[in-house]
Amino acid sequence: MYPAQGVRDYPRERFIDDLLREHETEIRRCLKKGAHKVQVDFTEARLAVKVDSSGHLLNSFIDLNNLALSRFSPEERRRIGVHTCPGNDLDSTHSADVDYAELLPSLFQLKAGNFYIALAGERDRRHVLEIIRRHLRADRRIFVGVVAPIDPRIETAEDVRDRVLEASEYIPIEQLGTTDDCGFSPFFDDTSTSRDTAFAKIQARVRGTAMAAELIGARQ
Ligand SMILES: [Zn+2]
Repeated sequence: MYPAQGVRDYPRERFIDDLLREHETEIRRCLKKGAHKVQVDFTEARLAVKVDSSGHLLNSFIDLNNLALSRFSPEERRRIGVHTCPGNDLDSTHSADVDYAELLPSLFQLKAGNFYIALAGERDRRHVLEIIRRHLRADRRIFVGVVAPIDPRIETAEDVRDRVLEASEYIPIEQLGTTDDCGFSPFFDDTSTSRDTAFAKIQARVRGTAMAAELIGARQ
């Protein structure tokens, strides 16, 4: 974001300092207010791989995020998560064509305790789950997307149940959670999904997750 030609009386180092401090402050305020988890949006991650396939841009974002995450204790980081998706504005994506294999190994370098990964809208979910399994660390929790805000069809609880069961073949249930693939209206001008549809999808997620938990025998 900082212009290549610089800004007079405001060097890049100070910009980075300010950026990190504000980011840290925002997360701390949420934690202090009692947030169960604080999710950091990182939709730029997958887009960064598309813009720069060398991975340099992605890694620079990850280094920057890690500078901020390093300011938190391990206990605090257990309450911090990172969201990744291929974009979701106005029912469109910006980087769905980027293979998660190009992204997830680097993304998992982030010093966060939780990862919220859009999965319902993926063409090949098992391929993604396989990558997650390969790179999963014991101290991480993975929340897989089980409903797709971009898909106008409202998922049934049974759809969700089956997606959770599928994911449980790859991720130990103590480390598995569910989420929506993304927000339902990321910007105020995005009315592509109605409030009723959003709540129906969330209801399907909650009910389907409970059905799967019962089948697996997991505590909720
Ligand atoms: Zn998203």
